[in-house]
Amino acid sequence: MATNGGLPSNGLSHYNPTPLLSQRVQKWKPPGIQSLLPLESAPGVISLIVGKPNPECFPFSGLSITLKGSDERLELSETDIRDAFQYALLPGGLPDLRKWFERFQVKLHNPGHPDASWDCAIGSGSQDLLYKAFQVFTDPGDSVLIDTPAYSGTLGFLYADGHDLVELFSDAEGLNPQEVERALATWPADKSRPRVLYTVPTGSNPTGRSCTKERKIDILRLAKKYDFLIFEDDAYYFLDFQDPETKAPSYLSLEPHINGETGRVLRFDSLSKIVSAGLRIGVLTASPVILQKVNMITSNTNLQTASTSQVLALALLRHWGHAGFLTHASTTSEFYRRKRDVFVAAAERHLKTKATWEVPTAGMFLWINLSLPPGDGRQDSFQVISQHAVAAGVIAVPGVAFMPSRSKTCYIRASFSLVTEEEADEACRRIALLVEHAFAA
Ligand code: PMP
Repeated sequence: MATNGGLPSNGLSHYNPTPLLSQRVQKWKPPGIQSLLPLESAPGVISLIVGKPNPECFPFSGLSITLKGSDERLELSETDIRDAFQYALLPGGLPDLRKWFERFQVKLHNPGHPDASWDCAIGSGSQDLLYKAFQVFTDPGDSVLIDTPAYSGTLGFLYADGHDLVELFSDAEGLNPQEVERALATWPADKSRPRVLYTVPTGSNPTGRSCTKERKIDILRLAKKYDFLIFEDDAYYFLDFQDPETKAPSYLSLEPHINGETGRVLRFDSLSKIVSAGLRIGVLTASPVILQKVNMITSNTNLQTASTSQVLALALLRHWGHAGFLTHASTTSEFYRRKRDVFVAAAERHLKTKATWEVPTAGMFLWINLSLPPGDGRQDSFQVISQHAVAAGVIAVPGVAFMPSRSKTCYIRASFSLVTEEEADEACRRIALLVEHAFAA
């Protein structure tokens, strides 16, 4: 954790996001019981407040984790077990787990700026935190800047609020700052300005692109110029195939060096791609004032992230330490790099004349532009998939799922995370058939 209460330090000011808060978050109030909880610990008080079930009735007496590839078995302590099966009623997560991530974030993203003001909160996956953070900063119908093509899971809940989704197109170097400047420099005076830019900067889902350092710097400058927040959804941060020497630093780590301020970046991390997707552990790193709002939504909705998941994650992370985590991360990214190479090689063999793609820099996806025949409505991979995928024996996600405007596209997203070498070869051979079917139709 690194908190200085928002006071300037080393010439660094802390951005106050309060003016950007949504109207709806101002209606959320902490649950009534919460303000009474501190009174429980007053000497001699018998608390009849919380409806916690009595753990004597729980059917568990132990919990342990067996680690792959070794005989190591992590036995959880009595305290861990007690915590794992009871309400924690801590919407921001178990304090020790938060602290573990806070120290890790200092190591990964904040060298040289120990006084910047931020904390971490745990959520039920980063998806949970993304949804809540959008609740904090957007009202229905608001404009939102979207690094496009975009993760469909985020678009899903943004659509439901009828937002005006402003498409900012990325290219091989990631989100293009000129797109941001173009959208905002000509913004209509009578329309409220976007308060949030949403981006997946490493191994974007669906494109596999990563944003360069130069572009991130320009985008941070624009965030200050046009007064918006950057939602840095870095779910694939640890599945990066780029040379560590040339890999771009995160927005979170660049921010204090660019605008002389901190607090505009909300960073979303996830254990899903690297430890377990079923644990549902995500981490939001942001200003304390932002976390307080997000946590208030948690305490009014799903109460907390599952205690069992948090206790298991903490036991594993403590056992590994930061170094062990990073070793596991590099083994895992190497695993996916090989998968990527195998898939790209298969694409080279079968799709050279039928499609184009960029080699993904990180993540699990190949974003393939099917060279579909020109003509009315024919350049639409959704039609191709829905009409010909079963006959061709291969299915991938049509690109329209990642277009905020739901516009037709020739692209498909192919995930290479699960397929074997043989399946990759066969899948690419069948994608070629798909394109042939589309031409024959
Ligand atoms: N962001 C991106 C870009 C993703 O691809 C995903 C998962 N598909 C998420 C967020 C959500 O991940 P989590 O499991 O942490 O909720």
